[in-house]
Amino acid sequence: NAEIIFVGRSNVGKSTLMRELTGHKFETGGKPGVTRKPNHFDWASEDFMLTDLPGFGFMSGVGDEHREQIKTDIVHYIEDNADKILLGVLVVDGKSVIDIIDRHSGEDEIPHDVEMFHFLQEVGIPVVVAVNKMDKVDDRDDRLNDLCDRLGLHPPWKQWQDTIAPITAKRGSIDALNESVKEHLHGQKRDDL
Ligand code: GDP
Repeated sequence: NAEIIFVGRSNVGKSTLMRELTGHKFETGGKPGVTRKPNHFDWASEDFMLTDLPGFGFMSGVGDEHREQIKTDIVHYIEDNADKILLGVLVVDGKSVIDIIDRHSGEDEIPHDVEMFHFLQEVGIPVVVAVNKMDKVDDRDDRLNDLCDRLGLHPPWKQWQDTIAPITAKRGSIDALNESVKEHLHGQKRDDL
């Protein structure tokens, strides 16, 4: 079965978004120290599965070693299933993503979000970045342009509307994501013909 995966740091609103998309209740937060297994769900009438991968990055109460293990598990899952994964949705928190990326950019450090964005593309999976919590962002265009810059996409962000989807999952404002996803899936189908 064709599959769409959802990845993102803990607390970006991934569970909220997936609940919005599917009507299923997803475990929010999750207990620290518990690695959530991929969960499979059908998305409305479409014939593919949505897979919720565990949150990565900082989680209170989770040690470095376990945190690394979660990331390794995610990477293995993606590598093993790359053939059937149609699309990756990388969920980020629009309010904090730039600060977090900049704080973790250094000579031998690549921020998780940036690393995941490039990793998915390297294994041939197109990525849509769901930029969540836009209700908390005042300088919307500047913020989205900065995000493009950090991901290596040439601003302005409006050129990248298939890739950058600003949303407010909590209020159900997810049109931009639905549009980007449709664009990718239809493009894919056309390629398959
Ligand atoms: P997860 O750890 O990524 O699954 O994140 P959750 O879905 O559990 O959400 C983490 C927190 O962010 C919760 O308090 C949500 O209510 C909140 N949240 C989720 N989406 C939004 C949003 O669009 N705007 C705002 N302001 N908060 C949100």
